[in-house]
Amino acid sequence: MSISRRKFIQNSACISATGAIACSQNPVPAAVDLGEPSTNMRPLFIATWPFGKFSCEAAVKIATDSGSMLDAIEKGIWVTENDVKNASVGIGGIPNADGQVELDACIMSGPDHNAGSVAGIRDILHPISVARLVMESTPHVMLVGDGAKQFAIKNGHPETNLLTDQQKSNWQNWQRKQAKMLQQSQPKIDEDHHDTIAMLGLDSDGNLYGGCSTSGWGYKIPGRVGDSPIIGSGLYVDNQVGAAGATGLGENVMRHCGSFLVVEMMRQGAAPTEACEMAVNRIAEIDPKNLDNLDINFIALNKAGAYGAAGTSKGFKYSVSSPQGSEIIDAKAMSVKAIGPEGGNRK
Ligand code: ASP
Repeated sequence: MSISRRKFIQNSACISATGAIACSQNPVPAAVDLGEPSTNMRPLFIATWPFGKFSCEAAVKIATDSGSMLDAIEKGIWVTENDVKNASVGIGGIPNADGQVELDACIMSGPDHNAGSVAGIRDILHPISVARLVMESTPHVMLVGDGAKQFAIKNGHPETNLLTDQQKSNWQNWQRKQAKMLQQSQPKIDEDHHDTIAMLGLDSDGNLYGGCSTSGWGYKIPGRVGDSPIIGSGLYVDNQVGAAGATGLGENVMRHCGSFLVVEMMRQGAAPTEACEMAVNRIAEIDPKNLDNLDINFIALNKAGAYGAAGTSKGFKYSVSSPQGSEIIDAKAMSVKAIGPEGGNRK
């Protein structure tokens, strides 16, 4: 059921009276309308995790200087993809079980509802740029594996070794441990080593954009693809309503079209944080077998500039930047056990 435009504005918008970035859920001042968004916090970018702050800050600068939100999303995400110390995105990412770094990324442009994506791409430093190329220069939305890599090389992306010495040595240690666990027929996937940058942006005309990039689940089975490059799972942008992105255990997001679900909750009138909570609750209800290890987190930004986040991973935080400054914010921490037996939702 959709709600009236007025109720949507009351429920979801937030423009800080002081221009500070901290608020995300206050009612919008009467003067602010979806048709006339305030520009004092534009361009506005939010991203998963504290490391997303550097990407958001770069994105604000690029969008301000060049006016291109897509350049801002792409090159902002480059900052994280370039960081060799970040073990979950780009170079320095944890490899798969065979010791190969396989990357996933996608990008969306709200005004033309366009999207591009690559999955399981090896030896290419900037999968987000290849995703943008897929979006802008092909009739397709998604390329995978070697096809994606050859497409990138043909379009000028050099082959790059993404496995750092540190990650190679970690992988060798992991392999030694695996060899000892003879009873296991499948490699044990390292649940503690996965993070992703999902970034959402809003310009002064109220247009929304997003991007997502990850090396995925550490020591995954080769060929495994998570939620991050799947449009509607790791990222979704609807220029009429808002945008959402995910981080966490992709398998628990992609069976539920998680980011699409968050955006649809906003469409029905939920504020961004509330929409993220509703999506987590819905997933927990449908998926009770995974309740104890759900490990899913969402960020959301609506067309009026309100933003928020919620998730089940301990200490999940997100970053926000605009020309007014930057901030790292604690996401609403959800205990899915609380919506288990006591909440009556666990089946
Ligand atoms: N969602 C990513 C994946 O499953 C990893 C993460 O965000 O932690 O590949």
